[in-house]
Amino acid sequence: MKLATVGEFGLIDRISAQFKAPENVTGIGDDCAVIPQSCGLDTIVSTDMLVEGTHFLLESTGPEDLGWKSVAVNLSDIAAMGGKPTGTLLSLAVPDSLSLEWADLFISGYRQLSDMFGCPLIGGDTTSAKDRICINVTVLGTVPSGEARTRDSAKEGDLICVTGCLGDSAAGLRILLGNGQGNEYPQLVRHHLRPTPRIREGLLLARCPGVHAMMDISDGLGSDLRHILDASGKGAVVDTASVPLSAQLRQYCKAFGLDPLEPALSGGEDYELLFTVDKDQERILPVAHTVIGYITEPGEGLVWKGSDKDFLGYRHF
Ligand code: ADP
Ligand code: MG
Repeated sequence: MKLATVGEFGLIDRISAQFKAPENVTGIGDDCAVIPQSCGLDTIVSTDMLVEGTHFLLESTGPEDLGWKSVAVNLSDIAAMGGKPTGTLLSLAVPDSLSLEWADLFISGYRQLSDMFGCPLIGGDTTSAKDRICINVTVLGTVPSGEARTRDSAKEGDLICVTGCLGDSAAGLRILLGNGQGNEYPQLVRHHLRPTPRIREGLLLARCPGVHAMMDISDGLGSDLRHILDASGKGAVVDTASVPLSAQLRQYCKAFGLDPLEPALSGGEDYELLFTVDKDQERILPVAHTVIGYITEPGEGLVWKGSDKDFLGYRHF
């Protein structure tokens, strides 16, 4: 049987079936693992891999942007838990034909984002690869004991909210692949190449008792909201007319005859936060956000109000 039969998440389920997380530890299944410590803080840890040809093409991604993004996608998982990043480990597999200039610029981009969040590179591993670059970053962080926001705590009646706008990154990738002029839509391209992890917003949201489930949007809302619903055992209604779309995304989709809901709900790599909040607490949240729907009873599934399409999000296989 081929892996494609079970899909990316089917494979992860088979892996996790053989490992039971120790008591009090949040293991496989959330944006980070959470490991309680005795000092009033929990350690949170996550890892993400970027593979040439799958996550980036050397022709369309400069080394500095790639360095930046390698850290950003990892810090986004720390933000998703409401945590503070402590440091990263970088494992690199690179062909020996790669230029030293490329490597220096990659590290420079990596440092720029690390500096922005006070999260230094503290170790890693370097090895040769036959024909393509593979970048693996592990990030460590902390969260006050018991305060990590996980995917399994959405409550019926909660409002579903997102930070920022959705779909810019997927449209930016489309432009980089030759569909449109980057200088006409700089915000879309920038969002794809240099996403900013929502660390500040995650920290503020985790201090609000009304904020229940939280995760970052890396595979598209259509995929990621389903993770919250599955983990929490709930359904949801999303009002597609409320999904926040940037002016540049609307303009781009109009010019190319696309439905902006496709990049916004099925595209990936927005690295915005998706969270659920008690409906009486939403108005007092200290973070800019948009309400896009609400959590319903288990068994009601995910309903896209205002659209007859389904949006599945990005799957690797
Ligand atoms: P994210 O998009 O937040 O990085 P993923 O969708 O990549 O999360 O992974 C979902 C969950 O499965 C995470 O908890 C992750 O740690 C876990 N996971 C993914 N791949 C593996 C693997 N090969 N072995 C163990 N756990 C994995
Ligand atoms: Mg995540």
